[in-house]
Amino acid sequence: MSELQHTLHRVQAVAAEGRLPVMVFDLDSTLFNTAGRHLAILRSFAEVEPVIRPIVDGLVHEDFSWRVDDPLRDRGFHDEAVLQRLTRFWFERFFHDDWLQHDLPNLGAVSYVQAAHRAGALVYYLTGRHVGGMERGTMDTLLSRGFPVYTGRTLLHLKPDFHAEDKAFKRVALDQIRSFNGEVVATFENEPGNANLFLDAFPEGDHFLVGNVCSPDGDAPADGLIIVPDFLCD
Ligand SMILES: [Mg+2]
Repeated sequence: MSELQHTLHRVQAVAAEGRLPVMVFDLDSTLFNTAGRHLAILRSFAEVEPVIRPIVDGLVHEDFSWRVDDPLRDRGFHDEAVLQRLTRFWFERFFHDDWLQHDLPNLGAVSYVQAAHRAGALVYYLTGRHVGGMERGTMDTLLSRGFPVYTGRTLLHLKPDFHAEDKAFKRVALDQIRSFNGEVVATFENEPGNANLFLDAFPEGDHFLVGNVCSPDGDAPADGLIIVPDFLCD
């Protein structure tokens, strides 16, 4: 049995004992692959900077990782003035409702969260996306992609504003997670620093580090994290 499946069994067992199983899911680069958002923004930028269009036309989601300009640099494009304009163009759009529709769920993510919810978990979406620009698009994409929302056992927690620091925000969220007085069965993150935080706060839980996209200047993963490429159970 895979670690992911084992976690679902733990959810059922905790629920059967009459306690509340809690599962915490990050969104960007955990439940959702943001490559589609990067590519849509890059295509839009190519409309105003046609010099990059021949490269952009050949790009696919798998070409993207952390930075939007990496696929251009990888293909030998090094016009720093254009790349700087791209960074500005990207920054004005990436953290905005209107572009979230381009994100696709990571492999197995929708089925897994549905299964966790069916098994009795409180599904707690905890994301570095912010209130005041990303809440509408976030709820729309969760709903349209088939993630459980509006069921009474789901919760969406965004940063209070854009400038809040991600890890500090997630540290504060620990108190809210504890306030349910349930059992934190599992958490899912792409950033090792956040996953380490959860491991430290809830040592009895399973703490998953998902995929291979994370901040290049982030922390190293602690021993004890469970590393998975996606949410496929077999
Ligand atoms: Mg993330």
